[in-house]
Amino acid sequence: MRLRGSHSFSDFLVFVLKEIKLLSNLWLMSRRFSIEVAKDYFNFASAHFLIFANGRREPLHGHNYQVSVAMEGELDRAGVVLDFITFKPLVKQICDALDHRTLIQTSSSAIQVRQNAREVEIVYKKQKLLLPRGDVILLPIANTSTELLAEYIARQIKRKVQRSVPAKIRYMEVAVEEARGQRGIFRDDF
Ligand SMILES: [Zn+2]
Repeated sequence: MRLRGSHSFSDFLVFVLKEIKLLSNLWLMSRRFSIEVAKDYFNFASAHFLIFANGRREPLHGHNYQVSVAMEGELDRAGVVLDFITFKPLVKQICDALDHRTLIQTSSSAIQVRQNAREVEIVYKKQKLLLPRGDVILLPIANTSTELLAEYIARQIKRKVQRSVPAKIRYMEVAVEEARGQRGIFRDDF
């Protein structure tokens, strides 16, 4: 490159500095950090039944569900996306609230759910299921698939994190495993 006079040289310097800034920005943007937590105690043993797209209902049965969570975001001054010590109990609380209960999908059009202080009555076609109120968790979801359970858990986590953790999270992923090697996943911007 031929440089003619100081004016051209200063232009050249400005050009080089701009390029360096652009490259460093690209480098910063390409650095992405996340945490993943999949503790053994992120579990709940619960009963449920799925209702398939053809309207057929599964018999009531149970799973030992296992939850894992990934959160992506900016590092804080300590180089941390989200402090594990703060984050793990939040996920555990959500799992514990579902543990040893029957999970019922209240947004399903295939069942009617009625409740009073003592009991929950679930009506599916000509079948009735009557359960003590305390044994049931009513979930505002269309089905108790692992995918929709993962979405429900993700929304609970989001609410708790936004309320109590000063972290800059961009993206989250929650997986719910109902049997070994068999899981539903929900991913969303935070
Ligand atoms: Zn099942």
